[in-house]
Amino acid sequence: MRTYYAGMDLDAPCGRCKLETRHRVLTLTNGQPDNLICTQCQSVHKFRPERPAAPPRVRAERAEAPPKPRSPASPSRFQELMIQEQAGAQARPYSPATRWEEGAWMDHASFGLGRVQKRLGRKVDVLFRGGLKTLVRA
Ligand SMILES: [Zn+2]
Repeated sequence: MRTYYAGMDLDAPCGRCKLETRHRVLTLTNGQPDNLICTQCQSVHKFRPERPAAPPRVRAERAEAPPKPRSPASPSRFQELMIQEQAGAQARPYSPATRWEEGAWMDHASFGLGRVQKRLGRKVDVLFRGGLKTLVRA
């Protein structure tokens, strides 16, 4: 490791001269040159041990758009899914022979999941996703 001392000369890039010039160390911090004076232009500046690497140029127009956050399911949609899941577990596949009770969940081949709203004799009103259907028991 190089030893520095105040008053020593060293070559360092000068921001004003825009080139490597002879500098004199004015102050040291923790053994590292702190302030330098350029012997060419007499400007005082901080010692930079290495040329700072140019930050990668990010062109705004080339920058990738941030990934779109997945639209979170709305609470109602979530609730709907929850209900469907619960209902799916207790739903019985539709059969015209089944005697449906009000409030029962039905898994209909054409209409999907539905809930029996009303039973009147052999007819049951079932609310499906697509709307209310009246099914007649065989
Ligand atoms: Zn200079």
